[in-house]
Amino acid sequence: MLFEQLNVIEPILKALQTEGYTTPTPIQAQAIPIILQGRDLLGCAQTGTGKTAAFAIPILQQLKDEAGPQKGPRRIKCLILTPTRELAIQIGESFTAYGRNLSLKHTVVFGGVSQHAQVNAIKSGIDILVATPGRLLDLMGQGIISLKHIQIFVLDEADRMLDMGFIHDVKRVILQLPMKRQSLFFSATMPPDVAKLADTILTKPAKVEV
Ligand code: AMP
Repeated sequence: MLFEQLNVIEPILKALQTEGYTTPTPIQAQAIPIILQGRDLLGCAQTGTGKTAAFAIPILQQLKDEAGPQKGPRRIKCLILTPTRELAIQIGESFTAYGRNLSLKHTVVFGGVSQHAQVNAIKSGIDILVATPGRLLDLMGQGIISLKHIQIFVLDEADRMLDMGFIHDVKRVILQLPMKRQSLFFSATMPPDVAKLADTILTKPAKVEV
C-alpha cells in the first residue's frame, strides 16, 4: 500500500517523502479515504499508531484550496481539541511537516504560558487551530477565537480528556460548533461514557479500529 493509492495529493506526498514515510500505517490506510469523503469517523487508536497523520493529511488536503489572500480573511476552519500541551505541540509539528508545501496556516494554543504570542498568531489569520480545552474557552470568552466557520472538528484522545476531567469543557466547546461540520473522534479505549460522548458529536460515523 502506498499513499498514492489513497489519493493523497502531490504536495503532501512530497512532504511525506521528506519525513521518510514510505507506507501508510493501518489507521492511515483505513481513515484517510473515509475522511477525504467528508464522513464522520470514530477511531479507536492509541498514540504511536500514526493517528495524527491519519487525520492531519486528509484535513490539509480538504482545506488546501481555501487558503490564500484572494479568498478574503483567513478563518479558522478546523479545530483539533487535545487534552495536553505536549500532544498539542506534537500535533502542531505534524501539521507543519505534512503541510510544508501548502499555504495553509495553523497555530497551537494551550494554558500555563502567556497568551500574548498565541493571540498574535490567531490575529494574523489561521486556517487550523490545535488547542487544549481550558485555554481555548478562555480565548473564546475574550472574543479572540470564534468557532463559527469550523468545517472539521477533531476530538483527540477522548478517553484521556474525560479522565482529566475535561468533559464539561469539551461540551461547552461542542455547543459553539456549527451543526453542519465533519467530526472525527479518536480514543484509545471506548468505555460507555466515551461512547456516549462520541454519540453526541458524530453523525453516522464510519468506525475504524486498530
Ligand atoms: P502518532 O501515533 O500520531 O503519535 O505517530 C507516531 C509516530 O509515527 C510519529 O513519530 C510519526 O512521525 C510516525 N509516523 C506516522 N505515520 C508514519 C508512517 N506512515 N510511516 C512512518 N512513520 C510514521
